[in-house]
Amino acid sequence: MSDAAVRAQALERLHESLRACTRCDLCEERTQVVVGAGDPDAKLMFVGEAPGANEDRTGMPFVGQAGTLLESLLKGIGLTRDQVFITNVLKCRPPGNRDPAASEVEACQRFLADQVLLIQPRLVCTLGNFATKLISGRPDGISTVHGTVQQVRFGGVDIALFPVFHPAAALYQRSLLGTLQQDFAQIPALIGAAPGWVAQPVAAMPPSDHAQMGVV
Ligand code: URA
Repeated sequence: MSDAAVRAQALERLHESLRACTRCDLCEERTQVVVGAGDPDAKLMFVGEAPGANEDRTGMPFVGQAGTLLESLLKGIGLTRDQVFITNVLKCRPPGNRDPAASEVEACQRFLADQVLLIQPRLVCTLGNFATKLISGRPDGISTVHGTVQQVRFGGVDIALFPVFHPAAALYQRSLLGTLQQDFAQIPALIGAAPGWVAQPVAAMPPSDHAQMGVV
């Protein structure tokens, strides 16, 4: 069996244990655990904050408006969500979409570090302040650190970290969309364009995608 197949099996076992997790109180109110989705051998991994109501209902990460924008940004660099791996810091929804509690992050972060270890992405792209501060271990906010690669160690795992604004932030503040597109435009070079990954210029993103998301 190939190394990638062994890692994919181990990832599935990790996800099975995650689906039964009772390490924090979020297990009492969740509909389902949102472990993450995508290619278990992805070169590029995205980490958001926590599942929201849509994710809790469907079991899939980033399926609301922020997810539609994320897909559109990926399309702009010639990728689909099946070619990357998308997950969150927390795998269960905090009630009312409140901020994750420190105890919940503490209970969950081993799972995230194990996902990185098993997927072995070339680049971990954090979406927004929360995931960025956790994985970098630094207090610097996303406005300062977005669009620049950092070498960090998280949960004993060495990571090439690339923070970008959270797509939800661009839904509220449209001026951030251009910044997000510029940061995304760096990604193909950072992961080393692999065969079959035809990067398109960001300008190729069709306006209709934005219109469908209700952000224009
Ligand atoms: N959906 C997710 O899965 N994560 C976020 O951080 C926001 C929306």
